[in-house]
Amino acid sequence: MSAPETARADVGFTDPIHEAVSAARGVFTSGTTRAIHWRRDQLKAMNQMLLDHRDDFSAALASDLGKHPSESWLTELGFLTAELAHTLKHLEHWLAPRRAAVPLALQPARAHTVLEPLGVVLVIAPWNYPIQLLLAPVIGALAAGNTVVAKPSEMAPACSAALARWVPHYLGGAVTIVEGGVPETTALLEQQFDHIFYTGNGRVGRIVMAAAARNLTPVTLELGGKSPVYVDDTVDMKAAAARIAWGKFMNAGQTCVAPDYVLGTGTALAMLADELPHAIRALYGAEPSDSLAYGRMVNDGAFDRVAGLLHRDLRGDAGSVLVSGGRIDAATRYIEPTVLHVDAKAALMDGEIFGPVLPLVAVESVGEAIAFINGRDKPLSLYVFSEDRGVRAAFTEQTSSGALNFGVPVAHLTVPGLPFGGVGESGMGSYHGQHSIETFSHQKAVLEKPLSPDTLSLIYPPFGRLTNQV
Ligand code: NAD
Repeated sequence: MSAPETARADVGFTDPIHEAVSAARGVFTSGTTRAIHWRRDQLKAMNQMLLDHRDDFSAALASDLGKHPSESWLTELGFLTAELAHTLKHLEHWLAPRRAAVPLALQPARAHTVLEPLGVVLVIAPWNYPIQLLLAPVIGALAAGNTVVAKPSEMAPACSAALARWVPHYLGGAVTIVEGGVPETTALLEQQFDHIFYTGNGRVGRIVMAAAARNLTPVTLELGGKSPVYVDDTVDMKAAAARIAWGKFMNAGQTCVAPDYVLGTGTALAMLADELPHAIRALYGAEPSDSLAYGRMVNDGAFDRVAGLLHRDLRGDAGSVLVSGGRIDAATRYIEPTVLHVDAKAALMDGEIFGPVLPLVAVESVGEAIAFINGRDKPLSLYVFSEDRGVRAAFTEQTSSGALNFGVPVAHLTVPGLPFGGVGESGMGSYHGQHSIETFSHQKAVLEKPLSPDTLSLIYPPFGRLTNQV
Protein backbone atom coordinates (compact mmCIF):
# COMPACT_ATOMS: atom_id res chain seq x y z
CA MET A 1 0.00 0.00 0.00
CA SER A 2 1.37 3.45 -0.94
CA ALA A 3 1.89 6.15 1.70
CA PRO A 4 -1.27 8.19 0.93
CA GLU A 5 -3.40 5.01 0.97
CA THR A 6 -1.99 4.03 4.38
CA ALA A 7 -2.84 7.47 5.75
CA ARG A 8 -6.41 7.19 4.49
CA ALA A 9 -6.83 3.72 6.02
CA ASP A 10 -5.43 4.92 9.38
CA VAL A 11 -8.08 7.60 9.79
CA GLY A 12 -10.85 5.36 8.47
CA PHE A 13 -11.35 7.64 5.45
CA THR A 14 -12.74 6.10 2.32
CA ASP A 15 -13.13 8.07 -0.85
CA PRO A 16 -15.48 6.07 -3.09
CA ILE A 17 -13.97 7.44 -6.29
CA HIS A 18 -10.43 6.66 -5.20
CA GLU A 19 -11.62 3.20 -4.08
CA ALA A 20 -13.31 2.56 -7.43
CA VAL A 21 -10.16 3.43 -9.38
CA SER A 22 -7.93 1.42 -7.00
CA ALA A 23 -10.19 -1.61 -7.35
CA ALA A 24 -10.12 -1.33 -11.15
CA ARG A 25 -6.32 -1.08 -11.01
CA GLY A 26 -6.15 -4.09 -8.71
CA VAL A 27 -8.07 -6.23 -11.20
CA PHE A 28 -5.87 -5.02 -14.04
CA THR A 29 -2.57 -5.64 -12.24
CA SER A 30 -3.71 -9.14 -11.23
CA GLY A 31 -3.18 -10.03 -14.91
CA THR A 32 -6.56 -11.71 -15.44
CA THR A 33 -7.68 -9.20 -18.06
CA ARG A 34 -4.92 -10.19 -20.46
CA ALA A 35 -6.42 -13.59 -21.27
CA ILE A 36 -8.56 -13.57 -24.39
CA HIS A 37 -11.17 -15.75 -22.67
CA TRP A 38 -11.59 -13.10 -19.92
CA ARG A 39 -12.17 -10.45 -22.55
CA ARG A 40 -14.64 -12.64 -24.45
CA ASP A 41 -16.47 -13.45 -21.20
CA GLN A 42 -16.95 -9.75 -20.46
CA LEU A 43 -18.25 -9.02 -23.96
CA LYS A 44 -20.68 -11.94 -23.76
CA ALA A 45 -21.81 -10.79 -20.31
CA MET A 46 -22.52 -7.30 -21.64
CA ASN A 47 -24.54 -8.82 -24.47
CA GLN A 48 -26.53 -10.86 -21.97
CA MET A 49 -27.15 -7.78 -19.84
CA LEU A 50 -28.54 -5.89 -22.84
CA LEU A 51 -30.85 -8.77 -23.76
CA ASP A 52 -31.99 -9.54 -20.20
CA HIS A 53 -32.76 -5.91 -19.39
CA ARG A 54 -33.73 -4.57 -22.79
CA ASP A 55 -37.10 -3.39 -21.45
CA ASP A 56 -35.54 -1.63 -18.47
CA PHE A 57 -32.99 0.18 -20.64
CA SER A 58 -35.73 1.09 -23.15
CA ALA A 59 -37.91 2.47 -20.37
CA ALA A 60 -34.99 4.56 -19.12
CA LEU A 61 -34.37 5.95 -22.62
CA ALA A 62 -38.08 6.76 -22.95
CA SER A 63 -38.04 8.47 -19.58
CA ASP A 64 -34.94 10.59 -20.27
CA LEU A 65 -35.45 11.41 -23.94
CA GLY A 66 -38.89 10.18 -25.01
CA LYS A 67 -37.25 7.60 -27.29
CA HIS A 68 -39.47 5.06 -29.02
CA PRO A 69 -38.44 1.44 -28.18
CA SER A 70 -37.66 0.78 -31.86
CA GLU A 71 -35.38 3.83 -32.04
CA SER A 72 -33.76 2.75 -28.76
CA TRP A 73 -33.05 -0.65 -30.25
CA LEU A 74 -31.78 0.72 -33.57
CA THR A 75 -29.55 3.47 -32.21
CA GLU A 76 -28.57 2.21 -28.76
CA LEU A 77 -29.12 -1.38 -27.63
CA GLY A 78 -29.11 -3.13 -31.02
CA PHE A 79 -26.19 -0.97 -32.10
CA LEU A 80 -24.27 -2.33 -29.11
CA THR A 81 -25.18 -5.99 -29.70
CA ALA A 82 -23.99 -5.59 -33.32
CA GLU A 83 -20.70 -4.05 -32.12
CA LEU A 84 -20.30 -6.88 -29.61
CA ALA A 85 -20.95 -9.56 -32.26
CA HIS A 86 -18.46 -7.94 -34.65
CA THR A 87 -15.82 -7.66 -31.93
CA LEU A 88 -16.30 -11.24 -30.71
CA LYS A 89 -16.01 -12.51 -34.28
CA HIS A 90 -12.78 -10.71 -35.11
CA LEU A 91 -11.05 -10.27 -31.76
CA GLU A 92 -8.51 -13.08 -32.08
CA HIS A 93 -7.48 -11.92 -35.53
CA TRP A 94 -7.17 -8.27 -34.43
CA LEU A 95 -4.99 -9.23 -31.46
CA ALA A 96 -2.60 -11.44 -33.43
CA PRO A 97 1.02 -10.18 -33.52
CA ARG A 98 1.86 -8.31 -36.74
CA ARG A 99 5.14 -8.98 -38.54
CA ALA A 100 7.35 -6.09 -39.58
CA ALA A 101 10.05 -6.33 -42.24
CA VAL A 102 13.66 -6.15 -40.98
CA PRO A 103 16.17 -4.18 -43.11
CA LEU A 104 18.97 -6.21 -44.65
CA ALA A 105 21.59 -4.43 -42.55
CA LEU A 106 20.02 -5.77 -39.34
CA GLN A 107 19.48 -9.35 -40.43
CA PRO A 108 19.32 -12.02 -39.23
CA ALA A 109 16.47 -10.79 -37.00
CA ARG A 110 12.70 -10.93 -36.63
CA ALA A 111 10.39 -8.03 -35.78
CA HIS A 112 6.75 -7.83 -34.88
CA THR A 113 4.27 -5.72 -32.92
CA VAL A 114 2.07 -6.94 -30.09
CA LEU A 115 -0.97 -5.10 -28.77
CA GLU A 116 -0.92 -4.76 -25.03
CA PRO A 117 -3.67 -3.33 -22.82
CA LEU A 118 -3.09 0.14 -21.39
CA GLY A 119 -4.48 -0.45 -17.88
CA VAL A 120 -7.43 1.42 -16.38
CA VAL A 121 -9.59 3.43 -18.77
CA LEU A 122 -11.91 6.27 -17.79
CA VAL A 123 -15.00 6.67 -19.97
CA ILE A 124 -17.05 9.87 -19.57
CA ALA A 125 -20.34 9.73 -21.46
CA PRO A 126 -22.92 12.31 -22.59
CA TRP A 127 -26.71 12.23 -22.32
CA ASN A 128 -27.95 12.12 -25.91
CA TYR A 129 -27.30 8.41 -26.56
CA PRO A 130 -26.63 7.66 -22.90
CA ILE A 131 -26.40 3.87 -23.08
CA GLN A 132 -24.69 3.51 -26.45
CA LEU A 133 -22.08 6.23 -25.92
CA LEU A 134 -21.09 4.83 -22.55
CA LEU A 135 -20.96 1.14 -23.49
CA ALA A 136 -19.53 1.34 -27.04
CA PRO A 137 -16.12 2.58 -25.84
CA VAL A 138 -16.31 0.10 -22.94
CA ILE A 139 -16.57 -2.73 -25.51
CA GLY A 140 -13.30 -1.62 -27.09
CA ALA A 141 -11.57 -1.06 -23.75
CA LEU A 142 -12.51 -4.54 -22.47
CA ALA A 143 -11.71 -6.24 -25.77
CA ALA A 144 -8.25 -4.69 -25.57
CA GLY A 145 -7.81 -6.15 -22.04
CA ASN A 146 -8.33 -3.08 -19.86
CA THR A 147 -10.54 -2.45 -16.86
CA VAL A 148 -12.90 0.51 -16.95
CA VAL A 149 -14.33 3.19 -14.71
CA ALA A 150 -17.31 4.74 -16.49
CA LYS A 151 -19.34 7.83 -15.67
CA PRO A 152 -22.78 8.17 -17.26
CA SER A 153 -24.22 11.63 -17.82
CA GLU A 154 -26.20 13.08 -14.94
CA MET A 155 -28.44 14.71 -17.53
CA ALA A 156 -29.93 11.31 -18.42
CA PRO A 157 -30.66 10.17 -14.84
CA ALA A 158 -32.87 7.16 -15.62
CA CYS A 159 -30.22 5.72 -17.96
CA SER A 160 -27.48 6.46 -15.43
CA ALA A 161 -29.47 4.58 -12.77
CA ALA A 162 -30.15 1.62 -15.11
CA LEU A 163 -26.42 1.32 -15.89
CA ALA A 164 -25.55 1.53 -12.19
CA ARG A 165 -28.18 -1.13 -11.47
CA TRP A 166 -27.13 -3.77 -14.02
CA VAL A 167 -23.46 -3.30 -14.91
CA PRO A 168 -22.16 -4.51 -11.51
CA HIS A 169 -24.13 -7.76 -11.87
CA TYR A 170 -22.74 -8.62 -15.28
CA LEU A 171 -19.38 -6.84 -15.46
CA GLY A 172 -18.39 -6.47 -11.81
CA GLY A 173 -14.62 -6.14 -11.44
CA ALA A 174 -14.22 -5.29 -15.11
CA VAL A 175 -16.35 -2.13 -15.21
CA THR A 176 -17.21 0.22 -12.36
CA ILE A 177 -19.99 2.75 -12.85
CA VAL A 178 -19.53 6.03 -10.98
CA GLU A 179 -22.67 8.13 -11.05
CA GLY A 180 -22.67 11.89 -10.60
CA GLY A 181 -22.16 15.26 -12.22
CA VAL A 182 -19.41 17.84 -12.40
CA PRO A 183 -17.99 17.27 -8.85
CA GLU A 184 -17.71 13.51 -9.43
CA THR A 185 -16.20 13.96 -12.90
CA THR A 186 -13.76 16.48 -11.48
CA ALA A 187 -12.78 14.04 -8.72
CA LEU A 188 -12.35 11.26 -11.28
CA LEU A 189 -10.10 13.47 -13.38
CA GLU A 190 -7.83 13.91 -10.36
CA GLN A 191 -7.12 10.17 -10.39
CA GLN A 192 -4.50 8.51 -12.53
CA PHE A 193 -5.79 6.62 -15.58
CA ASP A 194 -4.05 5.03 -18.54
CA HIS A 195 -6.51 6.41 -21.08
CA ILE A 196 -9.39 8.86 -20.89
CA PHE A 197 -12.22 8.58 -23.40
CA TYR A 198 -14.54 11.59 -23.34
CA THR A 199 -17.67 12.18 -25.41
CA GLY A 200 -19.36 15.57 -25.17
CA ASN A 201 -18.66 19.20 -25.93
CA GLY A 202 -15.41 21.01 -26.67
CA ARG A 203 -15.51 23.17 -23.53
CA VAL A 204 -15.41 20.12 -21.24
CA GLY A 205 -13.09 18.41 -23.72
CA ARG A 206 -10.52 21.09 -22.89
CA ILE A 207 -10.99 20.47 -19.14
CA VAL A 208 -10.48 16.74 -19.71
CA MET A 209 -7.38 17.26 -21.80
CA ALA A 210 -5.85 19.67 -19.30
CA ALA A 211 -6.44 17.16 -16.48
CA ALA A 212 -4.99 14.34 -18.56
CA ALA A 213 -1.88 16.38 -19.31
CA ARG A 214 -0.92 16.36 -15.61
CA ASN A 215 -0.30 12.61 -15.83
CA LEU A 216 0.55 12.46 -19.55
CA THR A 217 -2.56 10.34 -19.99
CA PRO A 218 -3.60 9.79 -23.61
CA VAL A 219 -7.10 11.00 -24.47
CA THR A 220 -9.75 10.38 -27.06
CA LEU A 221 -12.13 13.30 -27.47
CA GLU A 222 -15.39 12.60 -29.28
CA LEU A 223 -16.82 16.08 -29.70
CA GLY A 224 -19.50 17.75 -31.79
CA GLY A 225 -20.07 20.89 -33.83
CA LYS A 226 -22.10 21.82 -36.88
CA SER A 227 -22.32 18.98 -39.43
CA PRO A 228 -23.29 20.54 -42.80
CA VAL A 229 -25.27 19.13 -45.69
CA TYR A 230 -24.74 20.19 -49.29
CA VAL A 231 -27.50 19.43 -51.77
CA ASP A 232 -27.76 20.20 -55.47
CA ASP A 233 -30.45 19.84 -58.10
CA THR A 234 -28.97 16.69 -59.68
CA VAL A 235 -30.51 14.42 -57.01
CA ASP A 236 -33.92 12.86 -56.52
CA MET A 237 -35.02 15.57 -54.08
CA LYS A 238 -37.89 13.57 -52.57
CA ALA A 239 -35.47 10.77 -51.59
CA ALA A 240 -32.85 13.26 -50.37
CA ALA A 241 -35.44 15.07 -48.23
CA ALA A 242 -36.53 11.77 -46.65
CA ARG A 243 -32.92 10.94 -45.70
CA ILE A 244 -32.14 14.42 -44.41
CA ALA A 245 -35.34 14.55 -42.32
CA TRP A 246 -34.63 11.10 -40.88
CA GLY A 247 -31.05 11.99 -39.85
CA LYS A 248 -32.00 15.44 -38.56
CA PHE A 249 -35.10 14.75 -36.50
CA MET A 250 -34.24 11.41 -34.87
CA ASN A 251 -33.83 11.90 -31.11
CA ALA A 252 -35.34 15.37 -31.67
CA GLY A 253 -32.16 16.53 -33.37
CA GLN A 254 -29.97 15.70 -30.36
CA THR A 255 -27.49 13.60 -32.31
CA CYS A 256 -23.84 14.55 -32.61
CA VAL A 257 -23.82 13.60 -36.31
CA ALA A 258 -27.24 15.08 -37.12
CA PRO A 259 -27.31 17.34 -40.17
CA ASP A 260 -27.01 20.79 -38.60
CA TYR A 261 -27.81 22.98 -41.62
CA VAL A 262 -28.16 22.66 -45.40
CA LEU A 263 -26.22 24.58 -48.04
CA GLY A 264 -27.38 24.76 -51.65
CA THR A 265 -28.18 27.12 -54.47
CA GLY A 266 -31.51 28.95 -54.31
CA THR A 267 -32.97 26.50 -56.85
CA ALA A 268 -31.84 23.39 -54.97
CA LEU A 269 -33.05 24.74 -51.61
CA ALA A 270 -36.43 25.67 -53.06
CA MET A 271 -36.82 22.08 -54.30
CA LEU A 272 -35.74 20.73 -50.91
CA ALA A 273 -38.04 23.11 -49.02
CA ASP A 274 -40.96 21.76 -51.10
CA GLU A 275 -40.16 18.18 -50.15
CA LEU A 276 -39.12 18.41 -46.49
CA PRO A 277 -42.61 19.04 -45.04
CA HIS A 278 -43.85 15.87 -46.80
CA ALA A 279 -40.85 13.92 -45.54
CA ILE A 280 -41.47 15.09 -41.97
CA ARG A 281 -45.15 14.21 -42.21
CA ALA A 282 -44.25 10.72 -43.49
CA LEU A 283 -42.05 10.16 -40.43
CA TYR A 284 -44.17 11.69 -37.67
CA GLY A 285 -47.65 12.37 -39.10
CA ALA A 286 -49.43 15.69 -39.27
CA GLU A 287 -49.10 16.19 -35.52
CA PRO A 288 -45.56 15.17 -34.44
CA SER A 289 -46.48 15.97 -30.83
CA ASP A 290 -48.79 12.93 -30.93
CA SER A 291 -46.21 10.63 -32.50
CA LEU A 292 -44.53 8.09 -30.24
CA ALA A 293 -41.66 8.07 -32.72
CA TYR A 294 -40.77 11.70 -32.03
CA GLY A 295 -38.55 12.59 -29.04
CA ARG A 296 -38.36 15.53 -26.65
CA MET A 297 -35.60 17.93 -25.58
CA VAL A 298 -33.61 16.40 -22.74
CA ASN A 299 -34.31 19.16 -20.17
CA ASP A 300 -35.62 22.69 -19.76
CA GLY A 301 -32.22 24.25 -20.38
CA ALA A 302 -31.86 22.51 -23.76
CA PHE A 303 -35.46 23.43 -24.65
CA ASP A 304 -34.94 27.10 -23.73
CA ARG A 305 -31.71 27.32 -25.70
CA VAL A 306 -33.10 25.94 -28.97
CA ALA A 307 -36.50 27.65 -28.63
CA GLY A 308 -34.64 30.91 -27.94
CA LEU A 309 -32.52 30.61 -31.09
CA LEU A 310 -35.58 29.86 -33.17
CA HIS A 311 -37.51 32.74 -31.68
CA ARG A 312 -34.64 35.16 -32.24
CA ASP A 313 -34.22 34.22 -35.90
CA LEU A 314 -37.93 34.19 -36.74
CA ARG A 315 -38.62 37.44 -34.94
CA GLY A 316 -35.47 39.27 -36.02
CA ASP A 317 -34.95 41.30 -39.17
CA ALA A 318 -32.38 38.88 -40.58
CA GLY A 319 -34.82 37.77 -43.27
CA SER A 320 -35.45 34.25 -41.94
CA VAL A 321 -38.47 32.56 -43.51
CA LEU A 322 -40.29 29.65 -41.92
CA VAL A 323 -40.80 26.66 -44.23
CA SER A 324 -42.56 24.31 -41.82
CA GLY A 325 -42.97 23.61 -38.09
CA GLY A 326 -42.12 26.23 -35.49
CA ARG A 327 -44.55 25.20 -32.74
CA ILE A 328 -43.19 24.61 -29.25
CA ASP A 329 -44.51 23.53 -25.86
CA ALA A 330 -42.35 24.27 -22.83
CA ALA A 331 -44.37 22.02 -20.50
CA THR A 332 -43.48 18.89 -22.51
CA ARG A 333 -40.17 20.23 -23.87
CA TYR A 334 -41.58 19.76 -27.37
CA ILE A 335 -40.12 21.51 -30.39
CA GLU A 336 -41.84 20.69 -33.65
CA PRO A 337 -39.60 19.52 -36.49
CA THR A 338 -38.81 22.89 -38.02
CA VAL A 339 -37.30 24.01 -41.33
CA LEU A 340 -36.51 27.63 -42.20
CA HIS A 341 -34.51 29.69 -44.64
CA VAL A 342 -31.86 31.81 -42.89
CA ASP A 343 -28.80 33.74 -43.87
CA ALA A 344 -25.31 33.01 -42.59
CA LYS A 345 -25.56 35.61 -39.82
CA ALA A 346 -28.59 33.98 -38.17
CA ALA A 347 -28.32 33.02 -34.49
CA LEU A 348 -28.96 29.41 -35.51
CA MET A 349 -25.75 29.48 -37.56
CA ASP A 350 -23.59 30.41 -34.57
CA GLY A 351 -22.99 27.10 -32.77
CA GLU A 352 -24.20 23.50 -32.94
CA ILE A 353 -28.03 23.57 -32.84
CA PHE A 354 -28.48 20.14 -31.20
CA GLY A 355 -32.24 20.30 -31.62
CA PRO A 356 -34.95 19.70 -34.26
CA VAL A 357 -34.45 22.91 -36.25
CA LEU A 358 -32.99 22.78 -39.75
CA PRO A 359 -31.78 26.03 -41.34
CA LEU A 360 -31.35 26.23 -45.11
CA VAL A 361 -28.58 28.62 -46.20
CA ALA A 362 -28.34 29.71 -49.85
CA VAL A 363 -24.98 29.85 -51.63
CA GLU A 364 -24.17 30.76 -55.23
CA SER A 365 -22.14 27.69 -56.14
CA VAL A 366 -20.47 24.51 -54.94
CA GLY A 367 -17.25 26.50 -54.59
CA GLU A 368 -18.95 28.92 -52.22
CA ALA A 369 -20.37 26.00 -50.21
CA ILE A 370 -16.89 24.50 -49.82
CA ALA A 371 -15.45 27.87 -48.83
CA PHE A 372 -18.28 28.32 -46.30
CA ILE A 373 -17.49 24.94 -44.70
CA ASN A 374 -13.74 25.53 -44.75
CA GLY A 375 -14.23 28.91 -43.10
CA ARG A 376 -15.61 27.23 -39.97
CA ASP A 377 -14.52 24.53 -37.52
CA LYS A 378 -13.86 21.12 -39.06
CA PRO A 379 -17.16 19.21 -38.80
CA LEU A 380 -17.72 15.80 -37.24
CA SER A 381 -19.61 14.79 -40.40
CA LEU A 382 -20.29 16.28 -43.80
CA TYR A 383 -23.14 15.07 -46.01
CA VAL A 384 -23.28 15.62 -49.74
CA PHE A 385 -26.29 14.93 -51.96
CA SER A 386 -25.19 15.20 -55.57
CA GLU A 387 -25.06 12.86 -58.57
CA ASP A 388 -22.26 14.98 -60.05
CA ARG A 389 -18.94 13.12 -59.74
CA GLY A 390 -17.00 16.36 -59.99
CA VAL A 391 -18.91 17.78 -57.03
CA ARG A 392 -18.29 14.64 -54.98
CA ALA A 393 -14.59 14.73 -55.84
CA ALA A 394 -14.40 18.41 -54.89
CA PHE A 395 -15.80 17.71 -51.42
CA THR A 396 -13.51 14.71 -50.95
CA GLU A 397 -10.39 16.61 -51.93
CA GLN A 398 -11.08 20.12 -50.66
CA THR A 399 -12.78 19.67 -47.26
CA SER A 400 -11.80 18.07 -43.94
CA SER A 401 -14.26 16.39 -41.57
CA GLY A 402 -14.47 13.38 -39.28
CA ALA A 403 -16.59 11.61 -41.89
CA LEU A 404 -17.86 12.38 -45.39
CA ASN A 405 -21.06 10.65 -46.56
CA PHE A 406 -22.67 10.79 -49.98
CA GLY A 407 -26.43 10.28 -50.11
CA VAL A 408 -27.06 9.43 -46.45
CA PRO A 409 -26.48 11.10 -43.09
CA VAL A 410 -25.60 9.35 -39.80
CA ALA A 411 -25.39 5.80 -41.22
CA HIS A 412 -21.57 5.67 -41.29
CA LEU A 413 -21.74 4.87 -37.57
CA THR A 414 -23.18 1.48 -38.38
CA VAL A 415 -20.28 0.40 -40.61
CA PRO A 416 -18.04 -1.40 -38.14
CA GLY A 417 -14.99 -1.17 -40.38
CA LEU A 418 -15.09 2.64 -40.43
CA PRO A 419 -13.36 4.68 -37.71
CA PHE A 420 -15.72 6.99 -35.87
CA GLY A 421 -14.22 10.24 -34.64
CA GLY A 422 -13.68 13.91 -35.36
CA VAL A 423 -10.87 16.17 -36.47
CA GLY A 424 -9.88 19.57 -35.10
CA GLU A 425 -12.72 21.05 -33.03
CA SER A 426 -14.86 17.93 -33.60
CA GLY A 427 -12.42 15.73 -31.71
CA MET A 428 -9.30 13.60 -31.76
CA GLY A 429 -8.90 9.85 -32.02
CA SER A 430 -11.49 7.35 -33.18
CA TYR A 431 -13.17 4.09 -32.25
CA HIS A 432 -15.60 1.32 -33.30
CA GLY A 433 -14.55 -2.21 -34.21
CA GLN A 434 -10.83 -2.68 -34.78
CA HIS A 435 -10.27 1.06 -34.35
CA SER A 436 -11.34 0.68 -30.71
CA ILE A 437 -8.70 -2.01 -30.21
CA GLU A 438 -6.06 0.34 -31.57
CA THR A 439 -7.30 3.18 -29.36
CA PHE A 440 -7.24 1.17 -26.14
CA SER A 441 -3.97 -0.72 -26.75
CA HIS A 442 -0.32 0.09 -26.81
CA GLN A 443 1.35 -1.19 -29.94
CA LYS A 444 4.58 -2.63 -28.56
CA ALA A 445 7.52 -3.09 -30.90
CA VAL A 446 9.36 -6.40 -30.46
CA LEU A 447 12.71 -7.16 -32.10
CA GLU A 448 14.55 -10.49 -31.77
CA LYS A 449 18.12 -10.76 -33.01
CA PRO A 450 20.35 -13.73 -32.29
CA LEU A 451 23.67 -12.89 -30.61
CA SER A 452 25.46 -14.95 -33.19
CA PRO A 453 26.48 -14.18 -35.89
CA ASP A 454 27.27 -10.70 -34.56
CA THR A 455 26.58 -8.74 -37.74
CA LEU A 456 26.39 -5.53 -35.71
CA SER A 457 30.11 -5.67 -35.07
CA LEU A 458 30.45 -4.00 -38.48
CA ILE A 459 29.07 -0.74 -37.06
CA TYR A 460 30.67 -0.79 -33.60
CA PRO A 461 33.29 1.93 -32.89
CA PRO A 462 36.04 2.66 -33.68
CA PHE A 463 34.62 3.79 -37.01
CA GLY A 464 37.73 3.44 -39.14
CA ARG A 465 36.14 0.83 -41.41
CA LEU A 466 33.14 3.09 -42.14
CA THR A 467 34.94 6.34 -42.96
CA ASN A 468 34.69 5.82 -46.70
CA GLN A 469 30.97 5.08 -46.52
CA VAL A 470 29.64 7.88 -44.28
P1 NAD B 1 -22.97 16.33 -21.06
O1 NAD B 1 -23.39 17.68 -20.57
O2 NAD B 1 -23.72 15.14 -20.63
O3 NAD B 1 -21.44 16.22 -20.74
C1 NAD B 1 -20.71 15.05 -21.02
C2 NAD B 1 -20.01 14.61 -19.76
O4 NAD B 1 -19.14 15.64 -19.28
C3 NAD B 1 -20.96 14.28 -18.60
O5 NAD B 1 -20.62 13.02 -18.09
C4 NAD B 1 -20.74 15.41 -17.63
O6 NAD B 1 -20.89 15.00 -16.29
C5 NAD B 1 -19.31 15.82 -17.89
N1 NAD B 1 -19.09 17.22 -17.53
C6 NAD B 1 -19.91 18.25 -17.78
N2 NAD B 1 -19.37 19.41 -17.31
C7 NAD B 1 -18.17 19.09 -16.77
C8 NAD B 1 -17.13 19.84 -16.14
N3 NAD B 1 -17.21 21.16 -15.97
N4 NAD B 1 -16.03 19.18 -15.71
C9 NAD B 1 -15.94 17.85 -15.88
N5 NAD B 1 -16.90 17.09 -16.48
C10 NAD B 1 -17.99 17.69 -16.91
O7 NAD B 1 -23.02 16.28 -22.64
P2 NAD B 1 -22.91 17.44 -23.66
O8 NAD B 1 -21.54 17.98 -23.71
O9 NAD B 1 -24.04 18.39 -23.48
O10 NAD B 1 -23.17 16.61 -24.99
C11 NAD B 1 -23.50 17.23 -26.14
C12 NAD B 1 -22.26 17.48 -26.98
O11 NAD B 1 -21.59 16.26 -27.18
C13 NAD B 1 -22.61 17.99 -28.34
O12 NAD B 1 -21.66 18.94 -28.74
C14 NAD B 1 -22.50 16.76 -29.21
O13 NAD B 1 -22.25 17.02 -30.57
C15 NAD B 1 -21.38 16.05 -28.55
N6 NAD B 1 -21.44 14.64 -28.82
C16 NAD B 1 -20.44 14.07 -29.52
C17 NAD B 1 -20.51 12.73 -29.83
C18 NAD B 1 -19.45 12.03 -30.61
O14 NAD B 1 -19.48 10.81 -30.64
N7 NAD B 1 -18.52 12.73 -31.23
C19 NAD B 1 -21.58 11.97 -29.37
C20 NAD B 1 -22.55 12.60 -28.62
C21 NAD B 1 -22.47 13.93 -28.34
